[in-house]
Amino acid sequence: MSTNDHDYDAIIIGAGVIGSAIALEMSRRGHRTLIIDKTHAAGAGSTGNSCAIVRFSYSTSPGVTLSWEGAQYWTDWADYIGAEDELGLIEFHQCGQLLLASKDGHHVDRVVSLWDELDIPYERWDLEQLQEKLPYLDVGLYGPPTRPEDDAFWREATDSFSHAYFTGDAGYVSDPQLSCHNLQRGAEAEGATFWFNTEVTSIDQADGRASGVTLADGRSISAPVVVNVAGPHSAIINKMAGVYDSMNIKTAALRHEVHHIPAPEGLDFMANGVVGADDDIGIYFRPEVGNNVLIGSVDADCDPHEIVDPDNYDQTLDEDQWQTQVLRANRRIPSLGGVPHEKKGIVDLYDVSDDWIPIYDRSDLDGFYMAIGTSGNQYKNAGVAGQVMAELIEAVEAGHDHEAEPLQVTGRYTGRTIDVGFYSRNRAINPDSSMSVHG
Ligand SMILES: Cc1cc2nc3c(=O)[nH]c(=O)nc-3n(C[C@H](O)[C@H](O)[C@H](O)COP(=O)(O)OP(=O)(O)OC[C@H]3O[C@@H](n4cnc5c(N)ncnc54)[C@H](O)[C@@H]3O)c2cc1C
Repeated sequence: MSTNDHDYDAIIIGAGVIGSAIALEMSRRGHRTLIIDKTHAAGAGSTGNSCAIVRFSYSTSPGVTLSWEGAQYWTDWADYIGAEDELGLIEFHQCGQLLLASKDGHHVDRVVSLWDELDIPYERWDLEQLQEKLPYLDVGLYGPPTRPEDDAFWREATDSFSHAYFTGDAGYVSDPQLSCHNLQRGAEAEGATFWFNTEVTSIDQADGRASGVTLADGRSISAPVVVNVAGPHSAIINKMAGVYDSMNIKTAALRHEVHHIPAPEGLDFMANGVVGADDDIGIYFRPEVGNNVLIGSVDADCDPHEIVDPDNYDQTLDEDQWQTQVLRANRRIPSLGGVPHEKKGIVDLYDVSDDWIPIYDRSDLDGFYMAIGTSGNQYKNAGVAGQVMAELIEAVEAGHDHEAEPLQVTGRYTGRTIDVGFYSRNRAINPDSSMSVHG
């Protein structure tokens, strides 16, 4: 792949957490890598507003395997980055994840049977243990999720949880943008080049394959490999390359709100809080700096699913969504004490795929690859996505027929097999997907 006929060996579009991890992996393998982003800094796109939860509650076996491998990067971060960063390195807060079952419980049962099968460590807490370990939680069952305009939202609990599950290896990264800066410094130490404030406007082609990109200022940069890691802009880049229509799975920008409220008085949530996944009332939560509680929606059917233009959408917090999510959190943690007057939180975009599973694949255009459709749940997998994409690119460029014989990658930390074919752009919609996220 290395030839001096081109400006670079590979061009990566997008310096979010996934693009920056691919840049680190590619440059570490000796490929002259250029990463281009239209914002001013690594992670200034959707990654910067990520909840950055690292957990293993996936409803497919490949999903659990990938997240377990992905988590190991966060515990080994300094060695994996392998370079100094003047801004410091991120901290991975391994506070554990509590998984609360909804009344029908099917999703959680499926997840836990996968944990058994794949040997993921967890504890099963009965009701008494749950109350003893997290006394601030209301253990009532209220589901299925509803919204305040529905009378059912206000009804008393119909029952209590009989048990819950806790994975102590889960947690969160408190500064997702800093993780991208760390990856940038790691990649630069291996020779990668980052260009910011630079927009790709077309994908160049020659002899029936990708040959580079053209920028908004008119310059053309050549490379035999171009990788679309443009997050919520992924569909726009795929259309530029002419590969969008032929893909079975499509991606789109989905608007998403996350809210922050002060933790209950007297509760040190930073020290004692956990990541929570609550399909019963339809939220996930975690500690947030400043002793706040961060609240996201699991995108239950009753919640808005707004596909937007990623360059033109409402970035102000919506009063209804704020009330809904904060009231739900109050249900589960009654000592939160109501809805604060001042709305706090973020609005950003998921690059959602048709089945909420990412696409890590080549395309119909030789030399053009994609790591997209991360659907609000792939921050945790950035490191392993870097390895998967680098191995895929190397194999396909060396002549491997990935369509006929899907590439199998061995996770560098766990030694487990990752079937890259699972992430194909041409898969059928996966019926086992939960079509939702716990962060
Ligand atoms: C609110 C929210 C909460 C989330 N919570 C979690 C969580 O708890 N756990 C988890 O695992 N995942 C979570 N995710 C998902 C996770 O953050 C994403 O999967 C991940 O950050 C995607 O990274 P990326 O590098 O693909 O995309 P991005 O960070 O969006 O980067 C794409 C980059 O491409 C650039 N770009 C686009 N078009 C062009 C162009 N034409 N030219 C040049 N540059 C371009 C953009 O400027 C951007 O910087 C969440 C996401 C959101 C939005």
